[in-house]
Amino acid sequence: MKDIPIEFPAFEPGWVWLAGAGPGDPGLVTLHAWHALRQADVVVYDALASPAVLDLARADAAREFAGKRGGKPSPRQPDISRRLVELARAGKRVLRLKGGDPFVFGRGGEECLALVEAAVPFRIIPGVTAGIGGLAAAGIPLTFRDTNHTVTFMTGHAASGEVPDGIDWAALATGSPVIVIYMAIKHLSVIARKLIEGGRAADDPVAVISSATLPGQQVLVTRLDRCAEAVTASGLEPPAIVAIGPVVNLRRRLDGWREAGSGS
Ligand code: SAH
Repeated sequence: MKDIPIEFPAFEPGWVWLAGAGPGDPGLVTLHAWHALRQADVVVYDALASPAVLDLARADAAREFAGKRGGKPSPRQPDISRRLVELARAGKRVLRLKGGDPFVFGRGGEECLALVEAAVPFRIIPGVTAGIGGLAAAGIPLTFRDTNHTVTFMTGHAASGEVPDGIDWAALATGSPVIVIYMAIKHLSVIARKLIEGGRAADDPVAVISSATLPGQQVLVTRLDRCAEAVTASGLEPPAIVAIGPVVNLRRRLDGWREAGSGS
């Protein structure tokens, strides 16, 4: 760590550090998360913390899987929080490693509340979230001056496993030029229908980015009324992030530039 001119805080035994692992490419791990991986005695990781990121951990660090498998309700969440408390009380330096950013649709807030209740000291290390980094990796600018001044992030399913209640679909459909949806694949046909019923154009462009930033990254570009069947037909697998709105069309233009640039 001597060659990196940053003062890293000491990772004290008995602490939990909750860090974002980014979307998958280990190059997108922050220096703070990397430092945490080098120091931790135990890494409690999610399904979406990629193996390549986990490989950055100290060779002798214990690794505990605490993921939740896609689409299911998560009865084990209290168990995960309890385990973090238990490890910290045993005097370990505990790294809770979550995909993307720990506070974006990842229950990081709930885990922190449990740590507060148990009086376990903790620190939070932000990460590159899939809904931002994943779009950039696919060549889609999240904002663009001519198309959108706002962005909305949503989750495609709630803790119940269903499409979240209480969404004002009409407001979302007409009020946000760009909508980025996490965990959208399972309920994509319902989500697309509700947006169209809410006033969104059926031909609004949609990008589905699977395994963003990873070697298996795939990008499917389609339109709102056909996106669910297009995903099924393509055999695209989660994790995938869905982007809806005019910025999706910019990808073609940026791709052209990239190809022209790479020819020289
Ligand atoms: N905390 C995470 C999100 C957890 S929710 C973050 O900030 O990114 C899990 C969802 O994130 C997945 O269902 C998918 O929609 C998205 N996701 C995470 N990693 C991804 C990746 N590499 N490619 C595409 N989507 C990803």
